[in-house]
Amino acid sequence: MNAITPPGMGEVREVLPGLLWVRMDLPFPPKNVNLWLLEDGEGWLAIDSGVQEDHCRAAWERIFETALAGKPITRVLVTHFHLDHVGLAGWLCEKWNAPLLMTRTEFLQSRLFLLDDDGALLEQFRAVTREAGAPGEYDRHLDERGQIYRPSVAPLPTRFTRIAAGDRLTIGGREWEVIVGRGHAPAMATLYCAELKLLIAADQILPRISPYIGVSVAEPDGDPLGEFLAANEQYRRLPEDTYVLPSHGEPFTGLHARIDALAEHHAERLSMLEEACKGEGLTAFGAALVLFPHVKAVSQMGFMVGESLAHLNRLVTLGRVMRLPGEDGLPRYRTLS
Ligand SMILES: [Zn+2]
Repeated sequence: MNAITPPGMGEVREVLPGLLWVRMDLPFPPKNVNLWLLEDGEGWLAIDSGVQEDHCRAAWERIFETALAGKPITRVLVTHFHLDHVGLAGWLCEKWNAPLLMTRTEFLQSRLFLLDDDGALLEQFRAVTREAGAPGEYDRHLDERGQIYRPSVAPLPTRFTRIAAGDRLTIGGREWEVIVGRGHAPAMATLYCAELKLLIAADQILPRISPYIGVSVAEPDGDPLGEFLAANEQYRRLPEDTYVLPSHGEPFTGLHARIDALAEHHAERLSMLEEACKGEGLTAFGAALVLFPHVKAVSQMGFMVGESLAHLNRLVTLGRVMRLPGEDGLPRYRTLS
């Protein structure tokens, strides 16, 4: 398939007849998110929704008037709970009286963040970064910044339609298989259409960057990197010339090579950390500075620690690094020799 020029903010490009690519700007990296519209009989199925901001709502309003050829949105499918994907889903569902399709875990996670007490949620973040040995300025940054999830996400409907691994959805007369990705989010829905050899990959497999793989603050001892790498293996059975539509960046072919590259990237990062954890061992923040030597912004510290813990926990799971209490009470990660 020929390369398609990416749409600008709120613009629409046709990938195939009945499959539209929409792009919305984000107020944070990675700068924009791709959304998809699949023609579905008398209406359209929207995949993901952008963040709850006026410019995204205005872009949707323009799309309703122009690109949808007078047809309504009849279903809203959200790939995962992150705010750039779920942000306007509740608004879309209410506006069109459309059902919300999500995996159960992603729906519950989103609802939980929307209902959680702000102070308790921030304290949960602080506790993880503090235990990692991050400087106190990150605590102050969190206090100033506050909660970012709820302001960016419109209230979700209280009921949803569950989609699960292996489900076959009929959309526009074609069959789409639900393949559940893991690691970046707990149970991310991706969709594969064998007839079109087309994968809507969400954030599971991105073309240039590795998706962010960090621990959840509710599960700081988890192994999301192990989950991510294992989940990616599911996509090897899809044909090599599958056309991949990612949520960030441009559509691409070369799925298997991309899976290899992601595995290699993380294997290198793991070896680098294993080396750095020799001798005295490191705190999780110390390990974050090894992984991200050039990142200085306080606002990025939470992501750095999340990703550092994901790699350290993978090494612990593999028996390559041990987690020990340090003299200052903070855990140290030390390479077994
Ligand atoms: Zn995303």
